[in-house]
Amino acid sequence: MQSGAGLFASVVKRMKRPSTKTTTRTKRPNPPCPKCKGTFVRRILPRKGIEQILWRLFVYPFRCQLCLHRYMALQLFRRYKIELGDMREYERLRAQLPISFSGDQCEGTGTTVDLSMKGCWIESEQRVRKGTLLRISLTGPDGRTRVEAKMAAVRWSLGRGFGVEFITMEPDHRERLESIVRTCWECKVREEAQKDAVDSPKPAKAVKVSPPRVTRVVPRPKEKAS
Ligand SMILES: [Zn+2]
Repeated sequence: MQSGAGLFASVVKRMKRPSTKTTTRTKRPNPPCPKCKGTFVRRILPRKGIEQILWRLFVYPFRCQLCLHRYMALQLFRRYKIELGDMREYERLRAQLPISFSGDQCEGTGTTVDLSMKGCWIESEQRVRKGTLLRISLTGPDGRTRVEAKMAAVRWSLGRGFGVEFITMEPDHRERLESIVRTCWECKVREEAQKDAVDSPKPAKAVKVSPPRVTRVVPRPKEKAS
């Protein structure tokens, strides 16, 4: 058994150790969302102040990607290397879904490229300017489910594509969107598991080979000369 002081010293020692191995790529799962118990959660950046101090004590902020709940969780001895992708609080999942939109000065149809509970990227023949407010309607992968956002703001516009943030959405439409996002996420998890299986196939079982039997050759006794 380790004494209290000994345990504290070992904790401090491990905290001081520079993080070289653990990154966001480690397979250790993120703590599930305490609100919806979902596991589609994302570790996000800390806010200035107390959260930055807590970060050093292995207490990290997370955002549930389905119910949008933000929470703090202890991940003892897990160190994260901050990467460029961390700037995004909501994970955009690949989703090609038909979408229509209309605003004060524009109207059109297009296809989503990716999707999250907070917004999507749309490719369309219709050019849409940054800052435009739209009413959008997207169709789910089953071809029947309709999700409407009464108000969505165009946050980025680039060539034939533009990114929107959903601002106003009725609760039943939000539920439908949640179901679509969950489907996209499950699809992504399955694909990653398959990819992992291909990249690192299980080593073939070692077959026990028994050594060949060696028969000792006993030299014949020399015949006695008669
Ligand atoms: Zn949740």
